[in-house]
Order: sequence, then C-alpha cells, then structure tokens
Amino acid sequence: MAFLNDNYLKLKAGYLFPEIARRVKVFAEANPEAAKRIIRCGIGDVTEPLPAAVVTAMHKAVDEMATRAGFHGYGPEQGYEWLRHAIAENDFRARGIEVADDEIFVSDGSKCDCGNILDILGGQNRIAITDPVYPVYVDTNVMAGHTGEADASGAYAGLIYLDCTAENGFVAAPPSEHADVIYLCFPNNPTGAVATREQLAAWVAYAQEHQSLILFDAAYEAYISDPAVPRSIYEIPGAREVAIEFRSFSKNGGFTGTRCAFIVVPKTLMASTAGGDRKPLHPLWSRRHTTKFNGVSYIVQRGAEALYSPEGKAQIAALVEHYMGNARILREAASAVGLRVFGGVNAPYIWVSTPAETTSWQMFDRMLGEANVVITPGSGFGAMGEGYFRISAFNSRANAEEVARRMKAIAW
Ligand SMILES: *Cc1c(COP(=O)(O)O)cnc(C)c1O
Repeated sequence: MAFLNDNYLKLKAGYLFPEIARRVKVFAEANPEAAKRIIRCGIGDVTEPLPAAVVTAMHKAVDEMATRAGFHGYGPEQGYEWLRHAIAENDFRARGIEVADDEIFVSDGSKCDCGNILDILGGQNRIAITDPVYPVYVDTNVMAGHTGEADASGAYAGLIYLDCTAENGFVAAPPSEHADVIYLCFPNNPTGAVATREQLAAWVAYAQEHQSLILFDAAYEAYISDPAVPRSIYEIPGAREVAIEFRSFSKNGGFTGTRCAFIVVPKTLMASTAGGDRKPLHPLWSRRHTTKFNGVSYIVQRGAEALYSPEGKAQIAALVEHYMGNARILREAASAVGLRVFGGVNAPYIWVSTPAETTSWQMFDRMLGEANVVITPGSGFGAMGEGYFRISAFNSRANAEEVARRMKAIAW
C-alpha cells in the first residue's frame, strides 16, 4: 500500500486564484458583452515585454548553444560564477553590503525557493507569518507538516500569526512569544507596505535574542524609491547571522515567465541541531540545491546577467517607472472616490479599504460587475485582509487609466 502525505488534505480547498478565475468565468458567461471589457488587476503578473538587453543576451546565448564550441550542457547547480558574481557585486557589495559570490544560489524562482528552504529546517520549528500574507509561506508549511488543521477563518493551528493592520502600518512588530522561523516580505505583497530600518533592526534584534531565522522575501526590492528604506535585510548589522534573503528577477526584469531567482545564504548563518549544537546552514542548502536541482538554463542565466549591464539597469528603471506611474494613477483614483489607500508608493500593489459593511469578496463582485475590473480580495491573503482589496499596478498605462476612470464612475 502506498500512503499519501496527509498534510496535503489539510490545505484549504478554496484557494484564492482559482476562486477568482471561477467567479470571472461565471460573470463572463452570464455577461458576454461586459466580458469583452474586463481588465485584470488581480494576479501579480507583469505585463510588459522583456528588457531589450535581456532579449539580445538570450539570442546570443541561443546562437552559442547552436555551435559545438559554444554549447553548454549541465552547468553548476548553484548558478554560473559570472552570474553569482554580478549579483553579489551589483545588488550587495556596490551598496556596501557584505555578500560573497558563493553565498548566492541561483534558482528558477523565489516561489520554489520559499518552499524548498523547508527541506533544511527542522519540523519542530515554531513558525511565524504575517497576516495578510503571500499564501506560499503558509501552504508550504502545511505540506511539510508544520501545522495542525485550519479553523473556519482559514488560520492553521500551530502557526503564529502576526497581525498587520492599518494601525501598525501593515508592519508587524516582533511578538512577545518565541518564534524559531519568521517570514518577512518587504516591500510587501499584498499590502505594499515597506519596513523602515528601525523596524527591520527590531526584527534582527529579536532573531538574535531568540536564535531564530528570518526568511526575508525581497522580490519587490526594485520598487523602493525612498532612499531611507532598506532594500536588503543585510543592510541591518547582525542580519548575516540570522537571515536568508530571497530575490527574484520576476518583478524587476519581467522574468515571471522566463524564470530566474536567487537566495542569499550567508556562511555566518547558524541554526541548531536537535541536540542544540549550532551549525551553519550554508553547507546544508548547498547540498540540497546540488542534489535536487540541476541549474537554471544557460540562456536564461545570460539573460539575467544582462540585467546588470548599464543598459539592463536603465531598462529595469524604465519598467519600474512605468508600473509605478500606474500605481500613482490607481492610488489617486481610489483616494478620489473616498477610499482609504495604502501601499503603491514603494511597491506595485495598492491596498485599499472596502467601504463600510462591504466584505472583500463583495467588493470583488462589485468591481467585476460594475466596473468589469478584476481585483484581489484581501481576505484571500488571510483573516486580517478582510475589509481590503488589492489592486495590482502591473498593467499597460491605458488599462491603468481606464481602471481609474471606471472606479470613479462607480456609485460609491
Ligand atoms: C512574485 C513574488 C515572488 C517571485 O516569485 P518567482 O517564483 O520568482 O516568480 C516572490 N515572493 C513574492 C511575495 C511575490 O509576490
């Protein structure tokens, strides 16, 4: 008899994006004319084409692969040295942050990295997540058996939920209780909140005191325009001893369909054996990555490398400016109709309070029915997301402007 992983049966069936897709389909079938006008601001996927520097580099790489001399088979699982060097040099050392080339591990996505990291962590860890939250952190812990069952609100027994509310600016302070592993994401998906240096320093101090591990998701780092806001957890002294950072080319370079990301595992980062000895995590991750992963394609890594060229950097800046221009338009529209608006300044997501007495899903249905615009209901990201909705700035300028017009036309 083959046994299945019972933990999968604890996962909540009504996952956010399938439910959005279902409601959009039902609406479109009932309203075929309105269906043609639907604008999607729901899933956080980029819309603009790959930067020209990436396209050129990838074309060149394809041509190399077509020759015996330029052909590449299996590459190093951790990523080619030239890419690891470009990452460490440009994203960290050029900003005064100490990160060595061999502390970078190139992968095919942050989503996978977030889930895979649990392979090297013990099952006895007390896990803390923010609420609302990127669902991947929760679901991968459920799959790994780190939780009990979900209650009616969708909260899993055994997880520590850190409430993110308008009152704390959607940045949770460290809890009074003990957590072994903490997931932090800044700039935040879904709320668009960013953490100040002081707020991150409080988390690093907490992690030092509790010997805990911070899993820091910086997928939206490129969207930070405020020079006072840290772009990396390693800007905080002591973070090399307590944090792993997740980065992705999905949102800065438009790599959501191309697939390339990396994590930083400092060699100074320790965790405890069951017996209480402190050991470095770097060799464990290296072993895991080289055993279970066979590297990102040469062509894609050449494309990622091109993001660090002068042209690539300028093209990323232009993409970010484009999406943040949309964010400004959407923010202004939501404010103009009297809604409370958060985020959308150092992040491509706008987090909006629903009008009084309106739930997130009621708001979803209204936006779909009255404006033919797909947003994301806040409650899909956790109980604390109830009463909010997320608008993504990933769109064409014309669509962002049209969404703004339609929002203003709704009888709020
Ligand atoms: C989009 C996103 C990522 C990036 O995921 P990839 O798998 O690299 O595309 C990571 N974290 C968050 C919170 C995201 O929204």
